[in-house]
Amino acid sequence: MTVSAQQEKELLERVPTGLLINGEWVEASSGKTLPVYDPATGKELLRIQDGNSDDALKALTAADEVQAEWAQTAPRERAEILRRAFDLVHERAEDFALLMTLEMGKPLAESRGEVTYGGEFLRWFSEETVRHYGRFADTPEGKLTMIVRHKPVGPSLLITPWNFPLAMATRKVAPAVAAGATIVLKPAQLTPLTSQYFAQTMIDAGLPAGVLNVVSGSSASAISGPLMKDRRLRKVSFTGSTPVGRRLLADASENVLRTSMELGGNAPFIVFDDADLDAAVEGAMGAKLRNMGEACTAANRILVQESVADEFNKKFAEAMRARKIGRGTQSDADVGPIIDEGARENVHGLVTEAIDAGAEVLTGGNKVEGEGYFYEPTVLSVQENSPILTQEIFGPVAPIVQFKDEAQAIRLANASEYGLAAYMYTQNHNRALRVADQIEFGLVGFNAGVISNAAAPFGGVKHSGMGREGGAEGIEEYTSVQYIGMPNPYTVD
Ligand code: NAP
Repeated sequence: MTVSAQQEKELLERVPTGLLINGEWVEASSGKTLPVYDPATGKELLRIQDGNSDDALKALTAADEVQAEWAQTAPRERAEILRRAFDLVHERAEDFALLMTLEMGKPLAESRGEVTYGGEFLRWFSEETVRHYGRFADTPEGKLTMIVRHKPVGPSLLITPWNFPLAMATRKVAPAVAAGATIVLKPAQLTPLTSQYFAQTMIDAGLPAGVLNVVSGSSASAISGPLMKDRRLRKVSFTGSTPVGRRLLADASENVLRTSMELGGNAPFIVFDDADLDAAVEGAMGAKLRNMGEACTAANRILVQESVADEFNKKFAEAMRARKIGRGTQSDADVGPIIDEGARENVHGLVTEAIDAGAEVLTGGNKVEGEGYFYEPTVLSVQENSPILTQEIFGPVAPIVQFKDEAQAIRLANASEYGLAAYMYTQNHNRALRVADQIEFGLVGFNAGVISNAAAPFGGVKHSGMGREGGAEGIEEYTSVQYIGMPNPYTVD
């Protein structure tokens, strides 16, 4: 059912609009507010407090003051807070889904999918909290015994992007809570409402005051800048674009901060001639159109073996053309708007440039006239030197390139500064593992177009970043290892 204006209004009235500092929703020191817009209409949804440097420092003070006490809490206590948060996110699933659709634009069905995916980090890390073991062992020559412990890394700055408003917050907050680290969260200014609602959910789940602080604002660097220089901060975890990640890495080096960097991607989607083509088309639709293509894991370069290219291209273009464009709150919408006018212009610029360089348009290629920032699902047939293949598209646009053999597919896949996600469709398992070994990517989908999962380590290589979120690895990003050595108590008096 299509959501009514009254339902939207009632939900927006329940979203906290302050900055969360030391357990209280407070006003910004600037006295200013930050508008949040609906990309499907261009209209303002709500205004929240516009935090600045002073507010960021207050948030860090709160996080620092409770860090020692929070580190001492029993793992079970932290686990149960996360588990209650998981239950509450599911009780509030429709609220979270609608909020994401309103501020980010994705269709409600996809927002519901994100509630499931994003919520799962809370349950997964609740379980990891009580099974995060250290080591107790004798040294090889037998003289010492070592205790290896995991301690919380300390106050952490978490910076999230706008494209997955709930999942990017839970993927960072849950492991930090699990490890016993305290947090200053800086959500993207385009989509802060989901984070505000999630922070209230964490409080409702019993998270003590000061453990999670949230500072949204119109100047990201005004918030992050003073924190990155402050000796009380121990860690920065960032998800966003590679240029911003580079700047944060430079700042982090000054203060020798621990870093996790989840940066951009330019995923190849390889279709070999022995692939099940219908499955490959379905996989490509998921890998390309999920989140309107605004995903770091989005298939950005579709590589198809020559002998099956005509059939694949025809079926894929038909499937893309059949998708219904509409505001995400409409029950029949498959493809929502791009996040804002600037982002849509950028996507259109890439398409225009590709066409000028000789691309053939198989479907789409245009902005949708009228309200909001919609763009037609687009398929282009391009040559391997097309400029569109070198950039993260972040829109519903799929360039297809043909290749002759496995060696060329591997070369084309690796011809990118990025190394986050890659996909391949083939029925030959040996080939799949051989190709996976030779391509430089942190995540590989084999006959699967959507592979993100809370239990799996997520992260990239090359300019896609460093560190892993989710899986058994995710909690390590928020711990520091301490080794205690002592005379071996079993061999000395
Ligand atoms: P972005 O412009 O880099 O922004 C990401 C976050 O960083 C936002 O909170 C933003 O705040 C903040 N930020 C911007 N400039 C900053 C600065 N100078 N100092 C500190 N913080 C700063 O990226 P985006 O457009 O939101 O997201 C899209 C990008 O994220 C794509 O490249 C995508 O591939 C990547 N991404 C990667 C992953 C992954 O897991 N690898 C997942 C999702 C997205 P404001 O909103 O206030 O500008």
